[in-house]
Amino acid sequence: MRALVKMRRRWREARMFTKAMASADHPILAQIIPIRRCNLACTYCNEFDKDSPPVPVSEMLRRIDRLGELGTSIITFSGGEPTLHPQLDTLIRRVRDNGAIATIITNGYLLVPERIKRLNAAGLDYLQISIDNVQPDDASKKSLRVLDRKLQWLAEYADFDITINSVLGSAIRKPEDAYQIAARARELGFQSTVGILHDDSGQLSPLSETQSSVYEQILGLGKGLFSFTHHDAFQGNIVRALPNQWHCPAGGRFLYICEDGLVHYCSQRRGYPGIPLEHYTREDLMREGAKPKGCAPFCTISCVHQTAMLDEFRTRPREALAGIIERRKERDASWKPPLPVRSLEWMFLRDSRVRDVFGTIALRLFRVAPPERQVRGSSRYSTE
Ligand code: SF4
Ligand code: SF4
Repeated sequence: MRALVKMRRRWREARMFTKAMASADHPILAQIIPIRRCNLACTYCNEFDKDSPPVPVSEMLRRIDRLGELGTSIITFSGGEPTLHPQLDTLIRRVRDNGAIATIITNGYLLVPERIKRLNAAGLDYLQISIDNVQPDDASKKSLRVLDRKLQWLAEYADFDITINSVLGSAIRKPEDAYQIAARARELGFQSTVGILHDDSGQLSPLSETQSSVYEQILGLGKGLFSFTHHDAFQGNIVRALPNQWHCPAGGRFLYICEDGLVHYCSQRRGYPGIPLEHYTREDLMREGAKPKGCAPFCTISCVHQTAMLDEFRTRPREALAGIIERRKERDASWKPPLPVRSLEWMFLRDSRVRDVFGTIALRLFRVAPPERQVRGSSRYSTE
C-alpha cells in the first residue's frame, strides 16, 4: 500500500515538473500560514507568537482555492506550528482536491501514531522536521533526544515522504550535532538536508571552519540523488560566504501567504508586496516575480532557490544540467550520476530532437497545456 502511494506521488511530482517546464505563469511553491502560534520558542526564530488563534477554516479553504486558481503546484503549511491548527487535515485534503502537492513543516512535537495516521488519510505528501541539536538547550528544544521517538513512529506509520533538516549557523552551539542528526535520519530511511541558518533578514552568517567541515561530512553521507541535490552551487557559495548571482522569483514562482492572507516575497521579506491573496492576479505574479531583489546575493532561503533552479532548468536546460553535473564531478571524480540524472542528461545534453520529442510526450502524458508564452526568468548561479 505504501509503495503504491509513493508511486502515485512520483507520478504527480513528474507532472508538477512538466508543468513548471512548460510555462512560468504559475507559482511552483506557496508557503501558507494556518496559525502563527508556536508551542516552542527557539531564540533565533522571528516567525512565531505565543497567543494568536488559528486562521478560521473557511478563510483557509478560500485561500487554498485561490492558490489552486493561480495554478500553484506545491502548497506548504508552516507557521508558527501548523499542527496546532485544529483542522489541518481538512486543509490538507483541500490542497489535494486542488491537484497540488501537500506538505508541512513542523517541529514534530505533536506527532503521535494516531495523528500520523490522520495525516496519511488526509493525503499529506511530505513532512519536514527541522532538528537543531542532540540535547535541548536555551536556544532550541528541537532536539534529537526529544524527537527520536517521533521519528521512529514516522518510520513505522507514515505513508508520506519525510525529510529531516539539520542546521548549521551561529545560533547552533554544537555544529557536530548536525552530522549525528543527518546520520540518524538516513538510518531511519528518511531524506536528510542541511540548512544554513539565516539571520533576521534571511541573510547569510558565514560558517566557521568547524561548521564547514561538518557540512562536508553530511554531504558525504549521500550517495545518490541526495548528494546531487545538495551539491548545488547555491549551498556551496553560502558555506563559503560567497554571494550568489541569481534572480529571486519570490512574488511569482514562490509565494508566502501570512495569517492575514497577504502575499509576501518570503518569511523574511514580509510587507513586500503585501497584496491580499484574493486580489493577487497573474499580472501581479509576473511583475513581482520579475522584480530584482536587493537581498538576493546573500539569501539563504533554500526553498526559493529551489524554485529558481527549476526556472533555470526551464530557460537554460543544457547549461543548468551541465553545470550541476560538472560541479558534482569536480567534487568526486568517481561519481556516477544516478538514474534520474542520467535520463535528464540523455534527454537534454545529447540531442535536442530527443528533448523535443520527450517534451511533447510529457505534456500529453501529464495533460499539461503547452506553453502559450515564454517569459524571461533565468536565474544563473555563480560566484562573483
Ligand atoms: S519550532 Fe519553528 S516556528 Fe516554533 S519557534 Fe522554533 S523555529 Fe520558530
Ligand atoms: S532574495 Fe528572495 S527569498 Fe531571499 S530574502 Fe530576498 S525576497 Fe526573500
